[in-house]
Amino acid sequence: MTMRQQARADYGEIRDEVNKLCARFPGEYWRALDRTQGYPTEFVEELTRAGYLAALIPEAFGGAGLPLSGAAAILEEIQKAGCNGGACHAQMYIMGAVLRHGSDAQKQNYLPKIASGELRLQAFGVTEPTSGTDTSSIVTFARRDGDRYIIKGQKIWTSRAEHSDLMLVLARTTPKAEVVKRTDGLSVFLIDMREAKKNGLSIRPIRTMMNHATTEVFFDNVPIPADGLVGEEGKGFRYILSGMNAERILIGAECVGDAKWFIDKATNYGKERQVFGRPIAQNQGVQFPIAKAYAQMRAAELMVREAAALFEAGEECGAEANMAKMLAAEASWAAAEACVQTFGGFAFAEEYDVERKFREARLYQVAPISTNLILSYLSEHVLGMPRSY
Ligand SMILES: Cc1cc2nc3c(=O)[nH]c(=O)nc-3n(C[C@H](O)[C@H](O)[C@H](O)COP(=O)(O)OP(=O)(O)OC[C@H]3O[C@@H](n4cnc5c(N)ncnc54)[C@H](O)[C@@H]3O)c2cc1C
Repeated sequence: MTMRQQARADYGEIRDEVNKLCARFPGEYWRALDRTQGYPTEFVEELTRAGYLAALIPEAFGGAGLPLSGAAAILEEIQKAGCNGGACHAQMYIMGAVLRHGSDAQKQNYLPKIASGELRLQAFGVTEPTSGTDTSSIVTFARRDGDRYIIKGQKIWTSRAEHSDLMLVLARTTPKAEVVKRTDGLSVFLIDMREAKKNGLSIRPIRTMMNHATTEVFFDNVPIPADGLVGEEGKGFRYILSGMNAERILIGAECVGDAKWFIDKATNYGKERQVFGRPIAQNQGVQFPIAKAYAQMRAAELMVREAAALFEAGEECGAEANMAKMLAAEASWAAAEACVQTFGGFAFAEEYDVERKFREARLYQVAPISTNLILSYLSEHVLGMPRSY
């Protein structure tokens, strides 16, 4: 039976299979990698072999052809099992840009190889050190030179660049001063990093508070074939935006999975741990933060589902995708807090995985978009208040 046929309303069978796969990668596996900031190569290879990272690639190109909610179910289960989808989740949504806006040649060349695992498309270079959240102010420039572009500039926080063959990059092709709309003149390129590394592309890892394989990427006049341009020159911002809703919904699903992991851990520990001659979870002071996080998680889960349903129906879902990501990131953080407090001192011991997941969960209120910017979006675009920046 194909994954597509298995797809039920809640993807029960897929969830079970993902769970079985994740059980082969227990806490010790992640703790060992965490110490050395190593990449979970075996885990990513297994997910690829099982076809999960190709969930959104159409069957015609060798993928599973699942709707977005199927990919969301896979990522949620990974996080719920205590694993870390951050090592590879980008492959699911990055290739959407190629799928929606790429040429037939790009799709034929890359999608089947990405689906089979022959090529990894894990790196997505948007953020730059001087522009931060203000994407239209990026300065990495791609200059047309005959049948190629020459890229010069720098990206930061380009996660998984060292573990990817391909990279999707946003660069200016017309200076900001020369465009009417600040988001015009930006273009998306699909770069073969194996070639680019021989011609001026270099990668420097950034050590972070959690194991995320993130890097700085430097482009020192890197020539790339002109057919690496995705879609039309100058329209890249729109292409990136269309993928961002998918990214936010999928990250929201991961946060729901994280919240479930913390709630499960806290609940079980609270029932077992005896202090003053009774389980600590008998105290309302211990119960209530867990129960509250549960309610927050369930509300976020509904918003993730609503956003995914709108996305799948091809309807506008910017507000729902943003709210799903924000509410789910807040729910996972509330659950993380409750879990630490329930475990008390033992939360700080590596062997319970609580401190590792706590560090990992914090990211999603900042990346891929910070909570403030989501609130600004809702204020301006949903509630009609004046733009604040
Ligand atoms: C581990 C990690 C992995 C990442 N992976 C990737 C990746 O693979 N590819 C990629 O392109 N990027 C990646 N990012 C970058 C991430 O998307 C950015 O960090 C994020 O968008 C915030 O940008 P910034 O860090 O420059 O913060 P800034 O833009 O400098 O903002 C700092 C703070 O100021 C607030 N702020 C800024 N402007 C306003 C405003 N107008 N109103 C209110 N508040 C404001 C923000 O909300 C934020 O809290 C990653 C980041 C991290 C930490």
